[in-house]
Amino acid sequence: MNQTYIVTNPWKIIEQGFNPEHITASESIFSLGNGAMGQRANFEEHYSGDSFQGSYIGGVYYPDKTRVGWWKNGYPDYFAKVLNAPNWIGIDVQIDGETLDLFSCKSVHSFYRELDMQTGVYTRTAEIELHNGAIIRLVSKRFLSMDENELGAIEYQITPINKEARVDVQPYLDGKIKNNDSNWEDPFWKTLDCSFENGTGFLMSKTHKSHFNVCTYMKAQFHIDGVVQKETATPLIKSDSCSVKFSIQLKQGKTLKTVKYGGYLVDTNHKKIHLKTQAKQLVDSACKKGFDLLKKEHSKQWQEIWKTSDIVIDGDDKAQQAIRFNIFQLNQTYTGDDARLNIGPKGFTGEKYGGSTYWDTEAYCVPFYMATKQHQVARNLLVYRYNQLDKAIENAQKLGLKNGAALYPMVTINGEECHNEWEITFEEIHRNAAIAFAIFNYERYTADLSYVPEMGLEVLIGIARFWKERVNFSEEKKQYVILGVTGPNEYENNVNNNWYTNYAAKWCLEFTHKKIREIEKNNPEDFLRIVERTKITDKETKQWLEIAEALYLPVHPNKKIYLQQDGFLDKVLKDVNHIDPKERPINQNWSWDRILRSPYIKQADVLQGFYFFNEHFSLEELEKHFDFYEPLTVHESSLSPCIHSILAAKLNRMEQAYSFYLRTSRLDLDDYNSEVHEGLHITSMAGTWMSIVEGFGGMQVKNNILSFEPRIPKHWTAYSFTINFREHTLQVTISHQEKKFELKTEGQLKIQVNGVSTSLSSVNQLTLA
Ligand code: BGC
Repeated sequence: MNQTYIVTNPWKIIEQGFNPEHITASESIFSLGNGAMGQRANFEEHYSGDSFQGSYIGGVYYPDKTRVGWWKNGYPDYFAKVLNAPNWIGIDVQIDGETLDLFSCKSVHSFYRELDMQTGVYTRTAEIELHNGAIIRLVSKRFLSMDENELGAIEYQITPINKEARVDVQPYLDGKIKNNDSNWEDPFWKTLDCSFENGTGFLMSKTHKSHFNVCTYMKAQFHIDGVVQKETATPLIKSDSCSVKFSIQLKQGKTLKTVKYGGYLVDTNHKKIHLKTQAKQLVDSACKKGFDLLKKEHSKQWQEIWKTSDIVIDGDDKAQQAIRFNIFQLNQTYTGDDARLNIGPKGFTGEKYGGSTYWDTEAYCVPFYMATKQHQVARNLLVYRYNQLDKAIENAQKLGLKNGAALYPMVTINGEECHNEWEITFEEIHRNAAIAFAIFNYERYTADLSYVPEMGLEVLIGIARFWKERVNFSEEKKQYVILGVTGPNEYENNVNNNWYTNYAAKWCLEFTHKKIREIEKNNPEDFLRIVERTKITDKETKQWLEIAEALYLPVHPNKKIYLQQDGFLDKVLKDVNHIDPKERPINQNWSWDRILRSPYIKQADVLQGFYFFNEHFSLEELEKHFDFYEPLTVHESSLSPCIHSILAAKLNRMEQAYSFYLRTSRLDLDDYNSEVHEGLHITSMAGTWMSIVEGFGGMQVKNNILSFEPRIPKHWTAYSFTINFREHTLQVTISHQEKKFELKTEGQLKIQVNGVSTSLSSVNQLTLA
């Protein structure tokens, strides 16, 4: 673990003292977002040191022409990238003619920043000495409104503290923005127009190729002693930027407060011709309300979020801070009111992983959103995939798979596959199963029986058809096999019969068959529509069952252990302790062929199957498989420790579960992998939540009943989480002495704790020793 510089605090992320080496890491950690847009914690004023400028708008992407060393047929033409968007937060400052720049100034006397997760406000204070002798105090506060998601606000205060000074502040919009990860250095944006109208600045731009029209806007007000300054600030318009300059001779101890409102409007939400007028209305109403009221409305939304999603940990402030950070970032990334959006592995905090949607969403994020928000939020994640079904069918066709087979992309924003490494794009097909599993999981948890007949069944049929097309019958084995795949463990490629993939495929075929029969019986009208659309026949579904029945699963001949893939036992099965610690992580130190020949596992693979389908296996089987695979696992994906934490807790190995938990929960705060500067691991944060609720809390829906097998790490005094289950709010508090289950809403809820059923109501709570 890297020593963190982040100060421990239950509700805040704090950095104290100025260290240029931490700037890019802190820009990730202190990121802000509101589901519709997000930004790294770049300084408002100029900073000439190492910095990664990043501002992103949900759903706005650029199809960057694919760049690979060796082209393979079937590769996508482009990678649809999350776009680094025009900068609206910038404020240039000059003090007696010298640019305020924390990197090149004479000295930074003090520096402090905090992200208050309770209120969603980011604050930064600094005392800075310039080369010209002026010492100034800077206080800036910023938020991206959770109440009005096209709006952000900054309050930026400058106070000369040792003498009077001439202060020039110049809030600006900048359209000359590039993605760090651009493939060909071609421009992604074209600025159409920069203008100023009645004090509001507009930068109209359009993305090349994808043709998104975006209006970036700003309005600034200047206050001294609480009085808005009437002198008109001077607008300056250039081809790619616009700004407004305000200058004043400021007495020692007097504060100039600049309040800047800004954000983006996109033509996917507004008519193109109305972008400017609607931005103007928005900013005018913001000015009328003022910074404090807007902040209050924004923070109220955070209060609501915490009511149904907080996890309280007593006796371990580091763990407390970490879990809240994870929950906070997940809520900043996805709010679930727009089914066109999804959750990128880096959210709005960086560019790595480009596109937005991976299997991470279904396998890791759906449980979090399902249990902490209204069910519509998780449903929208499923609707997203339904809306991309036709593209998934086209995608499978491109790979030669016909008859309505759907292969969802490994990475996508708009439904098109964007990934371009053959061993992943063509082979990591288990992603399809995670989508089917999420449909099952959503229905099991929410009891919303409308998604499957309305949309989900068509998705399931496309996926089942894919497996049917992708298997082949082995004459030698007299069973169906799936050849040439990559499992979740990406350190094995082009293997035959990855157990997880085969097992999940078998499950998908059976589950889809079952759902078809249910919908036929319970939703005959939907059934007819679906039959009409998909031309599904009894003959076809019967064939699925035959395939599922005869799908080959590799097994260890003596030990009755499912083998990760054919031939796994040929490997030299030495555990990870045999790797020289200096050579870890192996993906940064070993050649790829060495990794492929090794037995080392990147992330849960067979064990991912034991997590998804845990009811299919006994505890003894789980133990045997855990003991076989975990010692070979290097956990070099951020998605690995959480699954292992959950399984270890299930096995009552609380020390091990806790140590995996620590690795997942403080991954970014403690920068375990020395890569936080690239952005945060948003999707694995949902896994961290699962480690507590599903791991320590042992929460699961079993036979249609919400059940718990609560345990507590010895390092904690108590912990408590709140969930929304089928529109009931339930609070669960676990300490070493007792386990408490409180229903916070009206009505009754049947739950099971360690196998014993009880009916809860708001007057009948359950406390167990
Ligand atoms: C993991 C994948 C994951 C991707 C994005 C990779 O390192 O192996 O399972 O989908 O990161 O998080």
